[in-house]
Amino acid sequence: MMQHYVATKEEYKDCILFYRLGDFYEMFFEDAKTVSEELELTLTGKDCGLDERAPMCGIPYHAAEVYIGRLIEKGYKVAICEQVEDPKQAKGIVKREVIRVVTPGTTMNSQGLDEARNNYIMSVVCIDERFGVSAADISTGECLVTELDKESKLLDEISKFMPSEIICNQTFLVCGIDCEDLKTRLHICVNALEDWYFDDSKCEQVLKEHFKTLSLEGLGLMDYNCGLIASGALFQYLYSTQKSDMPQMTSITPYVTDKYMVIDSSSRRNLELVETMREKQRQGSLLWVLDKTKTAMGSRMLRSFVERPLIDMNEINARLTAVEELNQQAMIRDEIREYLRPVYDLERLISRISYQSANPRDLIAFKTSLEMLPYIKQLLNSFKGGMLGEIQEELDPLEDLYQLIDTSITEEPPLAMKEGGIIREGYDETIDKYRHAKQEGKQWISELETSEREKTGIRNLKIKYNKVFGYYLEVTNSFKDLVPDYYTRKQTLANAERYITPRLKELEDLILGAEDRLYALEYDRFCTIRDTVAGEVLRIQQTAKGIARLDVLASLSLVAGRNNFVRPKLNNHGILDIKGGRHPVVEKMIPNDMFIANDTYLDNQEHRLAVITGPNMAGKSTYMRQTALLVLMAQIGSFVPAREANIGVVDRIFTRVGASDDLASGQSTFMVEMTEVANILRNATPNSLLILDEIGRGTSTFDGLAIAWAVIEHVSDKKLLGAKTLFATHYHELTELEGKVPGVHNYCIAVKEKGDDIVFLRKIVAGGADKSYGIQVARLAGVPENVLSRARELVEQLITSDITATVRDMTGQKKSGPKKTSFDEVDMAQMSLFDTVQDDAIIQEIRNLDLTNLTPMDAMNTLYSIQNKIRNRW
Ligand code: ATP
Repeated sequence: MMQHYVATKEEYKDCILFYRLGDFYEMFFEDAKTVSEELELTLTGKDCGLDERAPMCGIPYHAAEVYIGRLIEKGYKVAICEQVEDPKQAKGIVKREVIRVVTPGTTMNSQGLDEARNNYIMSVVCIDERFGVSAADISTGECLVTELDKESKLLDEISKFMPSEIICNQTFLVCGIDCEDLKTRLHICVNALEDWYFDDSKCEQVLKEHFKTLSLEGLGLMDYNCGLIASGALFQYLYSTQKSDMPQMTSITPYVTDKYMVIDSSSRRNLELVETMREKQRQGSLLWVLDKTKTAMGSRMLRSFVERPLIDMNEINARLTAVEELNQQAMIRDEIREYLRPVYDLERLISRISYQSANPRDLIAFKTSLEMLPYIKQLLNSFKGGMLGEIQEELDPLEDLYQLIDTSITEEPPLAMKEGGIIREGYDETIDKYRHAKQEGKQWISELETSEREKTGIRNLKIKYNKVFGYYLEVTNSFKDLVPDYYTRKQTLANAERYITPRLKELEDLILGAEDRLYALEYDRFCTIRDTVAGEVLRIQQTAKGIARLDVLASLSLVAGRNNFVRPKLNNHGILDIKGGRHPVVEKMIPNDMFIANDTYLDNQEHRLAVITGPNMAGKSTYMRQTALLVLMAQIGSFVPAREANIGVVDRIFTRVGASDDLASGQSTFMVEMTEVANILRNATPNSLLILDEIGRGTSTFDGLAIAWAVIEHVSDKKLLGAKTLFATHYHELTELEGKVPGVHNYCIAVKEKGDDIVFLRKIVAGGADKSYGIQVARLAGVPENVLSRARELVEQLITSDITATVRDMTGQKKSGPKKTSFDEVDMAQMSLFDTVQDDAIIQEIRNLDLTNLTPMDAMNTLYSIQNKIRNRW
């Protein structure tokens, strides 16, 4: 057995091998050490024919799912080596085989999977500087394929899907993408596969065979050379790890990335689309507001809507119209939602059914879901045409499958599949026959019990059963003397003896024989029923998609109604005109409808860029994010929180949040800020929406101001970019640009001063703010009064005197200045400071030198003495 173990492990070197021994999965050698450490399990040992005992660690088979789930979460792959023959019938060592390799992207573990999100595995190939990408969720059967020409686009796709596993070719590892970052920051398990996985003709053949088509045209993949290789490699990987022909993967959908709005990963984070930036929680995210779906499928689809907003106006309008129709028939919508409530996760159920891992209870859950379909279809009759009409037409109520399960499987079947109790009375004659034999057997036993009591006079004699000894007669010690000769002792307990008789043995054989045959037959019938359902995977997946879509639309409609959202108008002229816009999340967090609505107007002509100033805490970030979120909501097909909204469809949303605000992953350095700015300037188009919050705050005042200034000029220049931009800043100097740079306008968030305090009015108005009210805000935050009054004093001085005098006064220092090592490092602000404080004796000495009368030797000596003075001083 150990030899077989070692040979198997050799084949699955990169996996932890779970080796089935009786009721346990055992791990040996290094695997045992790793698992015992990772899962805090006891490490034991086993004789294995070597000098030393092999380190060993075991897990009971029934708890394996949980342990495998935990290992997968930690990024391991697990190969499951199972006993593939009945140990009772085995001659010699029981035959074992690896039946599946579980990896982060291929886990089907119902406990480990979050039902509200897809679990994608992504295959990426890099060929001649192009990327082929294929993403699949094997728990739902979805498979997508695309091609990209830039690393940045690939990163966008990765952050769109957030796969838990990436498989790739070797070239991908050296293409410039930071794989370590993918692993450590995004927790994606990245593995390069051997070259043969990516052979193009093999990949083509695999896909044609899988989808049973003769040509790539049939799959729509003619123009996806790299995408096809990514998909082909992915399918080969799935076959080899899942040991299955993946029947649930029924379709492959090619897509072009510009079908969807591009949102890079930092913008996704900043906008808090699916989780909050700091706590990484769903509550407080856009999805938290929008998701009132009733089914897991709906919840996953809504998430994918939020992650992939549309660009095509017709597609967006189709969704908006469906939401509107549901609003108009709110009672029917709510009734539909009631029927959606009991619908289980059909997509994942059918995958488990196809995988033959579904148990009888899964089939009952499936049936309960199907029971709702005819009612839902009926209710959808109220909607003619459009997206809802389409769902109505395509929704297959799957009545045949409902009937099949309803007539065949008992209402409350056990979890165990090989202990009977699965098949309904009346479904199969032979099963009924065995079941009666088993029940009659019980009757025979009870008759035997009565007759033995009478015969022997043992009043409390009982016939009992357990799995180890089978049936036996139990006699307590007080009646031991009455036991007749034909009783054969089987077991002695403290206060009783257990016996068997020839007649009891005979009955036992009859009963257990019937039971064995009954259980085997029930299991067999159950498998046939499961396979019949699996055979309808396409119909079921199509219905599941329809249900998911309906659930999402109903959720968007409900949210729109409850929160007073309006249907946005869409335009292709680049006009963004929002009246009375609100932040969908912040308005929920603020009690008593206290959120102040604001307008936004931007276009690609005279109002390209808004410079927004205002005190800290005034609401600048909220306002800008709200604008971005409204555009995004409109493009996923949602109504928006506004009085009126006319939204020019954008191709990308970029957000750059100032260093002081960037709490995402402790990366708020100036370098990161500039990298993001560079990314925006390089990739934005005139149809993009830019949210730039406090650019340049990560460096010194003058450098920061200069960079912010230059960015505004670049972004608003139609020849260079001309994208619609909201630009918040504390550099009031930038308000000077209005009237000087075309397309730039000033706005500020109004506040009211009341003595030393300020009242935030949260209203955006035209014009620039004249000050920052930083000290007032510091006061609100609880900064001690002595610090505040000193700050006030300093502000006064800074405003009235020139910086040189102020710094002198501030520091009380006239002689020395800060140490500088190189002029390259000195920025503008520091330069002025440096010049001034250095104006001391040495400078005086140099100034007073009479160079015309200095001999070269004197010059050298003077220089030497100056250098010494400086050295001694610093
Ligand atoms: P800073 O410059 O310090 O980053 P800010 O101007 O960006 O500040 P925000 O963070 O947007 O300010 O807003 C501060 C708080 O003000 C928000 O957390 C929110 O509670 C409240 N707020 C913002 N906008 C509004 C509004 N329109 N109505 C009511 N409350 C608002």
